[in-house]
Amino acid sequence: MFCQTNKELEALVEEARSYTQYGKVADYIPALGKANPTDLSISINYPDGRCVSAGDVQKKFTLQSISKVISLAFVLMDRGSSEVFEHVGMEPTGDPFNSIAKLEKMIPAKPLNPMINAGALVVTHMIKGNSVEDRFKRLLSFIQELANDATISYSEGIAQSEFETADLNRALCYFLKQHNRLDGSVDDLIKLYTKQCAVEMNCLDLAHIGLVFAMNGFDPQTNKQIIPQNVARICKNFMVTCGMYNASGEFAMKIGIPAKSGVAGGIMGATPGRFGIGIFGPSLDEKGNSIAGIQLLEMLSKKYSLSMF
Ligand code: GLU
Repeated sequence: MFCQTNKELEALVEEARSYTQYGKVADYIPALGKANPTDLSISINYPDGRCVSAGDVQKKFTLQSISKVISLAFVLMDRGSSEVFEHVGMEPTGDPFNSIAKLEKMIPAKPLNPMINAGALVVTHMIKGNSVEDRFKRLLSFIQELANDATISYSEGIAQSEFETADLNRALCYFLKQHNRLDGSVDDLIKLYTKQCAVEMNCLDLAHIGLVFAMNGFDPQTNKQIIPQNVARICKNFMVTCGMYNASGEFAMKIGIPAKSGVAGGIMGATPGRFGIGIFGPSLDEKGNSIAGIQLLEMLSKKYSLSMF
């Protein structure tokens, strides 16, 4: 049995909202600094199409790192797992998402996993297409299909704001290029990556994508197998081991579902075989996860025994 009514969920959201005061919105991408720290919303999407929601679920936010799990699925479908894992590993790092530390110690240089920036940049580099525009268009239509919402687009302002300030990500790219993990123009890759991160949607869309992952790549509402089962399985694996930054171990212990968060405050949850979850709460804890979003998931997990372990 899980949360059945908006009212039930609203009470939990109001309780969790008080935690927003202990976090802070990300501002290293200047445009993200404009978010309202007290925002908190959640949507839960069930296979039969029912949706239980609370908070301002129409409010849009950018995917940021949540896009990493989607681009991974896309590239695995484009190129197959042996080619992808030749260039990126499968191990959690325990370091912050943008750290360069372990990369320098790996011989040969290979990002430890696709959820940290170094690994995600290598994955985005593998998106096929003739130009940045073409590659982004392909990824965006995949995201629209996953959310079953053809209106999804990206925030030019946030993409531009990140492009102008992405020097650490450029540094990761130049390091990877020197070690033959990347080729071509670093700025083109940063252009594609920042657009990918700036894809915008609301909690309802995010919960729908979470549902597709929860159902092993199958969308029960359109009856389409959008992602092959094996690819969905790989993605959920990474969501468990590295989806919540260097708090993934604690998250698995306390909440116990595959999930991926982003620095704009989104969290996508995929409760295997049961439902998808979309959360937005831009006030972040020190690891970069939505502080109230984590509280909310912890309350839900305890109350409804969500843990898969
Ligand atoms: N676009 C962000 C970056 O690369 C994504 C970070 C995140 O959400 O963790 O810095």
